Amino acid sequence: MLALDITATLSFGAYAKISQVLASVDRDRKGDRDAMKYIGLLSVSGKSQGTKKALGVWGYWIRWAWNLRGVATALFLGAITQGAQADSKAPPELHWYRGNTHTHTLNSDGDSTPDVVTRWYREHKYQFLFITDHEYLTDVVPLNALYGATERFLILPGQEVTQWSDDPKRASSRISALIGAGAHINALFAKEVVWPIGTRPCFQQGCGANSPADMPISETFRRNIAAIRGEGAIAQVNHPNLLWSLKPEDLAEIPDGTLLEIWNGSGPYINNLGGDDGAGDIRPSTEELWDWLLSRGKVVWGVGSDDSHTYQVPRVYEPDAAAPGRAWIMVHAPSLTPGALRAAITNGEFYASTGVTLKTIDSDDSKLSLTIDVGSSGDSSWAPPRYMTRFVGKNGETLSSVGGQNPVYRFKGSEGYVRAVVTDSNGKRAWTQPVFLDGRWKKAEPVTRP
Ligand SMILES: [Zn+2]
Ligand SMILES: [Zn+2]
Repeated sequence: MLALDITATLSFGAYAKISQVLASVDRDRKGDRDAMKYIGLLSVSGKSQGTKKALGVWGYWIRWAWNLRGVATALFLGAITQGAQADSKAPPELHWYRGNTHTHTLNSDGDSTPDVVTRWYREHKYQFLFITDHEYLTDVVPLNALYGATERFLILPGQEVTQWSDDPKRASSRISALIGAGAHINALFAKEVVWPIGTRPCFQQGCGANSPADMPISETFRRNIAAIRGEGAIAQVNHPNLLWSLKPEDLAEIPDGTLLEIWNGSGPYINNLGGDDGAGDIRPSTEELWDWLLSRGKVVWGVGSDDSHTYQVPRVYEPDAAAPGRAWIMVHAPSLTPGALRAAITNGEFYASTGVTLKTIDSDDSKLSLTIDVGSSGDSSWAPPRYMTRFVGKNGETLSSVGGQNPVYRFKGSEGYVRAVVTDSNGKRAWTQPVFLDGRWKKAEPVTRP
């Protein structure tokens, strides 16, 4: 799509060039007339047989060739111009697009129709939405016909693969002992439903399936991610601390290019911040889990998402409701198309947010720098919020903490990777993707490409 966009721009450029040349031909019409008079053609006008007779057949065609020379010149110049512009390979202008990658509707266990859900996001300053019902592909074609608009809003297909595990070593809570430990994965850009491993206890609302007790939960990730990638979709590991289900080693073998929910905006069983039960069971926060994977050499991109289920009043206002609008990603892409968004997400060209907006994220060989958009989080005219940016490296080490709106970190070279997390004075956050100083992303095994 990127190539098509560039071609369209260049073609428009070439067209404008041709128009300019034709205008100059018009301006020179008087001079043309003088020249034509000189060779005896101007005294004859019109397209009649009389013209042909008066000029003779050769004279008639010479006259037409003369009249067409401006157009021929214009086309020739246009072609040259187009070639020259194509050679220059100017990078396309990039835009920020806000979107949610984890959404439920009445087609699984959400409380509203796809129409209501789509309208909520359309009306709340989002530009794209993945609908990820449990074990169900909600058809986005009619939704796009109603609510899709070029460069304004796009609905994309997805599924949540609702894997539960009966592995007794992961039954860390009363409820997970009852229903299984959660190993849910989203398939973004899904084309067909991926069934979780095991028997399905029910068929309504996509309640998933339980993998057998003798299958390690890591094996469910291996198989399900392979199935998701096999259909050309992008895998997103959801809410790792749901019911205290996962331990870091369960994700040790996930492939490069996998997304990890570092902030899930739904319900009380999500536990984004991790915790210590006081009896020796300490679970990392999802962000610490991300650092654990990055420190082992993995390429994993961090995502914030709603996992929204509840849209109806009054339930939507309750603090533990899985309401929309809590966490999202901002994707940096040349256009709001499935191809451009897929390429940008695949390559980590986005950041996650719960309310802090970044104007720019720049990195080169020597530094990572951000520009924070102050106007986006609070009324800056009264008392602008304040910002603290923590630059994080290998093993989650804080490399530096920088206040203000333009934080910069200069690389030392030994950090392995550097990422930034911005927290404002009201608790809202933004997380950039890691910059890999060891070149691992370039060396990484190929991931699903558009
Ligand atoms: Zn889930
Ligand atoms: Zn979900």
